[in-house]
Amino acid sequence: MTDWRGQTADASFAMKFDTSVLSTLDRYCLEAGSSETGGILIGRYSDDLSLAIVQEATPPPTDSRRGRSWFVRGINGLRDILGKRWRAKDRTHYLGEWHFHPVDQVEPSSEDFDQMLKISRSKEYDCREPLLLILSSGKHRRKRAFRAFVCPAGGEPKELLPASGPPIATTVGGPS
Ligand SMILES: [Zn+2]
Repeated sequence: MTDWRGQTADASFAMKFDTSVLSTLDRYCLEAGSSETGGILIGRYSDDLSLAIVQEATPPPTDSRRGRSWFVRGINGLRDILGKRWRAKDRTHYLGEWHFHPVDQVEPSSEDFDQMLKISRSKEYDCREPLLLILSSGKHRRKRAFRAFVCPAGGEPKELLPASGPPIATTVGGPS
């Protein structure tokens, strides 16, 4: 399995996830048909906190509400899952949200960013820099197209762009 790795243009924040997470997400997107859907991302940070490592994406909670161009993620079962993950050996936790938009272009809406800002400031989530991963129905190199953003509590959302060129591990991410 290969990783997908992205970082902000100013290199202040980076994320990575295994492509197995993407195949899981691909399945959830197919199941959603022509409606939006979404769920949460679970994982951990590198020791120096500069790299978010996404290890899991949950299916949409059963009390989520959705339409062709809107989605309100429910909460059923999330507390349970997060409790279990935190008590497990590698102590993974909430890292952000994923959304599926049933259109070809991957474009976050202003509602998406508003929601992320609320989450970043919420005590309940305890996550000051939540991630937002948006998947579309379009394909790129036979993979589902997606974009990733980090939405810090005190600033504008920043896009995480795929790393190219030399490995970025020397400046961000630390040992992995
Ligand atoms: Zn959305």
